[in-house]
Amino acid sequence: MSVRDTNILNHTDLKYLLIDNLNLYTEEAFYVQGNNPYTFNINKKTVYIYIKNVHQSGQNRTNTDECRIQVGKTPGFTDVLASGKIAYMLGYFDDCNVFTAWNPLLFRDRINAKRTVSLYSRFSVQERANENGIACYIDSNGCSAITFKPEYIGLYLENYSNMHLLDEQGLLELIQKYDEVKNSNNDKEDIEIGNLEYIVNHPRTKRDPNFKKIIHKIYCSRCAICGIQLELTEAAHIIPYSHEKGTDEPSNGICLCALHHTAYDRGLIYIDEDYNVKMNNEKIRYLEKIKLDGGIMKFIQMHDSKIDLPVSNKPSVEFIKIANSIRGIN
Ligand SMILES: [Zn+2]
Repeated sequence: MSVRDTNILNHTDLKYLLIDNLNLYTEEAFYVQGNNPYTFNINKKTVYIYIKNVHQSGQNRTNTDECRIQVGKTPGFTDVLASGKIAYMLGYFDDCNVFTAWNPLLFRDRINAKRTVSLYSRFSVQERANENGIACYIDSNGCSAITFKPEYIGLYLENYSNMHLLDEQGLLELIQKYDEVKNSNNDKEDIEIGNLEYIVNHPRTKRDPNFKKIIHKIYCSRCAICGIQLELTEAAHIIPYSHEKGTDEPSNGICLCALHHTAYDRGLIYIDEDYNVKMNNEKIRYLEKIKLDGGIMKFIQMHDSKIDLPVSNKPSVEFIKIANSIRGIN
């Protein structure tokens, strides 16, 4: 492995990496605050995530396949652990685009006894997970570090304790069944492997058809950002309806074309308190690093003005502020 620095994801990039992938798991995943731990609300539960880039172990280590993250105590992190809660312990290896997860219960005991802790895996495991979706490294004490593609992060967060009991064969069986369940129409399903159950929880919000009609009427079916009609517009929620503060009030809605709806929901653009359309430069830098920034110059040129406000039922500034915060925008 060569030394790579330029594309290493920083704290902000890792926040967007988590937001993007948690949103693939459930509509009910919202960023709350902070980093290491990052606080999320996922399926109505508060979740703390600690994540660092996976790197090569120190020079005094002989195994070149060995990789690790090093975890130190920080005030916010120590508070979470001291309160008896768990923080999920994740590594990210950008060469393979995979997460590695260490058992948070075992970690809690180790960090309580020491100031810093190294958590190990193997580069070959990262590569195997990139190929097969999931893989694991089991250390000499029998503790597993599970490496998986980002799309499995929700499955892991809900089922970590059972997943750490599985060997690689069991984990492969689990994601195969999970992929099948994800394509079903049920909000919640259980998978059984061995004698243990795994939850797959992906609630889908029931939509109010009136919201769509009202928003289209207020905005004359015109995108508030680019002005396009052409039957390409959608009724977007400012605060997602699945969030506890999300509502179908017209002031929580805005008419957007399909492109701007997606860009808004993903936090690539946002609206400020004066109704200016802004590019989220932090997200752009993150997309550059993960090499998904194609077309960005063309996209930026489309945005330099205020949204077109309707005569009545303007978007609520209070809702806009909350919406920005849960999409990771400070
Ligand atoms: Zn538009």
